[in-house]
Amino acid sequence: MGGESLALPYLVHDQLTAHLLRADGQEDVCLATYSTSTGRSRVSRFLTHVELPLPGERLVHGNASFTGEYVLRVAATAAARQQGVAILHSHPYGRGWQGLSRVDHEAERSYAQLVLRMTGLPLLGVTLAGADEAWSARSWDRKEPSWFASVRVVGTQLRVNWNDHLIPPVAPRASQVRTVSAWGPTTHAMLTRLRVLVVGVGSVGLDIAQRLAATGIQHLGVMDHDVVHEVNLDRLIGATRDDARRQLAKVEVAERQMRSAATADSPVIEPLQMSICSPEGLAAALDYDVIFSCVDRPWPRAVLNGLAYADLIPVIDGGIDIDTFEDGRMRAASWRSHTLVPGRPCMSCSRQLVAAQVSLDMEGLLDDPVYIRRAGLKPSAGSPNVAILSASVSAAQLAHFVSLTAAPGSRGVPAPLRYVLSPHILEQLRDATLEFCPIERALGQGDRRIAMTRSARLPAVDRS
Ligand SMILES: [Zn+2]
Repeated sequence: MGGESLALPYLVHDQLTAHLLRADGQEDVCLATYSTSTGRSRVSRFLTHVELPLPGERLVHGNASFTGEYVLRVAATAAARQQGVAILHSHPYGRGWQGLSRVDHEAERSYAQLVLRMTGLPLLGVTLAGADEAWSARSWDRKEPSWFASVRVVGTQLRVNWNDHLIPPVAPRASQVRTVSAWGPTTHAMLTRLRVLVVGVGSVGLDIAQRLAATGIQHLGVMDHDVVHEVNLDRLIGATRDDARRQLAKVEVAERQMRSAATADSPVIEPLQMSICSPEGLAAALDYDVIFSCVDRPWPRAVLNGLAYADLIPVIDGGIDIDTFEDGRMRAASWRSHTLVPGRPCMSCSRQLVAAQVSLDMEGLLDDPVYIRRAGLKPSAGSPNVAILSASVSAAQLAHFVSLTAAPGSRGVPAPLRYVLSPHILEQLRDATLEFCPIERALGQGDRRIAMTRSARLPAVDRS
């Protein structure tokens, strides 16, 4: 796949548009610093700090210009932060992805070498189109700029500006007419180009993956290190007895089912038989634009919780909790769903992740039945689940995806939700970001994120 991707949290987008889109309709300019996130095949750059010009550092006169002192000042700040520099300017009446005029080309090129030498990172050029607030970006890693494939603005809504030359829109097929009529061709062209990853293809993840494929999304990934067992068959819709006998990888079953459901012309489906807790699993995940978290263990959920903020990839998480009486009857059931994005609390703040449990999981102790019993914990593997309720979890997560991308009513994703089965009540949870949340403070840190992955897992304790 071609091209890097630029992402910015919505607060940075708001700060930049407030400066670059002037009331008098003239072009304006400013600088920002960026961090880097290195995926397996994609590099992403994140605008984290806006560095507005001091008096005298830029001139507005139809075509805005800036002084060398301004660039030097921000390059020194960026170097101290181990970040790079971006030069941003506006095209007040532009719409969509913007090209580079001769004047702007020369202005960016003239500083590219200086910035590269001072920061060790390529200068980025970024343009804002005033008519629709669309971004476009390029990197000066050689004499001529390399164009980015996309720019993502990440908040309670995900807005993606695509470089149509590198990632062209695909005309909807006859099999997608009803889908397009639900949210219109613009949204359809945006979301079918998203790279969407489903982590964990058990009952919930397998259902979600097939529905994404049926929607026409071109590029999908599924990640799971596990294989199909006999005990999975009552929940994995589409998996066969033969799959269980051959102990087929869950991602292979998912790929087969997704291919038969897919409506895209030539869907790219990437089966990733690995764990998100490994460095290679994390790197593969960083190539995606949206991730569904369909895993129930604390460690992988903690990894996804971290990357949602540090790597600006919206993570849509969900899970079910079925509570039984001693005699085995169902006492209660509830399922929850939340999207992890800037502007919504992370799973530590919403009490979905407990640090002590994450560290037990990392030590392999949650696989040890003796330890679990002695510590009075609930076993995390093998908890009750039924296919007829897992559909409610996947439905809840998919509804978050629609709010994130199509944003009906311009509302974006909701606060964390919990559906309580016995009284049939849907609750919006009031959890907010805690004052010193280290996860959300690491917003846009990219490769300098809090390390949560490990190369080799401790040997799994035999579960038989
Ligand atoms: Zn938090």
